[in-house]
Amino acid sequence: MKKVQLSSPQISQSDIDVVVQVLKSGRLSIGPYTEAFEKVIAEFTGLRYAVAVSSGTSALHLILKAANFNEKSLLIVPSFTFVASANVALFEKGKVVFVDVQPDTMNIDPFALEYVLDKCSKEYSEIYLMGVDIFGHPMDWDKITEICSNYNVTIIEDSCEALGSEYKGKKVGTFGIAGAFAFYANKQITTGEGGIIVTNDETVYKISKSLRNQGRGEGSEWLVHEYVGYNYRIDEMSAALGWSQMQRIDEIINRRSDVANRYNKLLSKLGIQIPVVKDYVTRMSWFVYVIRLPEHVDRLTRQRIMEYLEMEGVQVRSYFEPVHLQKPYRELGWKEGMLPVTEQVSTRTIALPFYTDLTLEDQEYVVEKLKNALELFIK
Ligand SMILES: *Cc1c(COP(=O)(O)O)cnc(C)c1O
Repeated sequence: MKKVQLSSPQISQSDIDVVVQVLKSGRLSIGPYTEAFEKVIAEFTGLRYAVAVSSGTSALHLILKAANFNEKSLLIVPSFTFVASANVALFEKGKVVFVDVQPDTMNIDPFALEYVLDKCSKEYSEIYLMGVDIFGHPMDWDKITEICSNYNVTIIEDSCEALGSEYKGKKVGTFGIAGAFAFYANKQITTGEGGIIVTNDETVYKISKSLRNQGRGEGSEWLVHEYVGYNYRIDEMSAALGWSQMQRIDEIINRRSDVANRYNKLLSKLGIQIPVVKDYVTRMSWFVYVIRLPEHVDRLTRQRIMEYLEMEGVQVRSYFEPVHLQKPYRELGWKEGMLPVTEQVSTRTIALPFYTDLTLEDQEYVVEKLKNALELFIK
């Protein structure tokens, strides 16, 4: 039977060659490819510094540490995101407050953000915003940065799903004190496991670079440590793979855009909601392709539709289950009803198979099976 995977990395012969070359070189960590990868990402985003690390999560964690987030700090974060966006605050024993999203873009709602800040700014003096460009779609950065500057909020950008996206001609990852990208195998480019911090802030750069490498000082000896650091280093094989993939980043983004546009056409008559791309998005770098079932459809019906698709060989996923309803956050007092838009949206989403080399033929198969499922389960 036919199988269409949810995602699949694009690995070229030159990707393979460069990784093999690293293996043969004998230098498997802290080598020239880590530096070259950092350089190509910094140039791509137009920022001064990049620090490559072991994952997107470690990138976000180090940004918080370097920006002095601590147990007295508050992190405002959307719940409609990957759990790591919020967890990093708990790593540092800080407080997490979730903010609701806009129904169309599924990004932070500026009005909801203002409301949350109004309530919290009396109680907390150190407030941080984790701004997530969800599924590759930039947040409404003009509005968000204005609100944050009014309340003296430090912005950290979780652009882990959005490498290459642009808001009014400016690349995402550049709107806060620092930004993070991630390179797990389902992202726009992959290093297997990996992430990177981008920033113009020299302090954030220096501290995060030291913390990823056990708190060692710049140029200091191997066993001399200035901070309690981590081993969040990326290895040379991963960095080389990332560097190699960056050589064709524009082609990758364009191909993913073609795949998304084909879905847009194929799905236009199915009575479901396709992803929205706002006018302020001057370049959309697609991470996943998420449709939404009609408003009256409940969680159980979505479940049946997803099971049907899986049975027909179409791999799908319910991006995202709200973070505030996950066990660690329920234990902190979060529950149903607290974020109505997030909760409403997340019962109806289905991520369809989506990756750089997805063929038209496979997309037609996905859409045919989805059409059958909708006819079977939705009245
Ligand atoms: C992928 C992702 C991350 C980082 O994930 P890692 O698996 O740690 O690389 C962080 N935030 C969001 C929104 C993501 O999608």
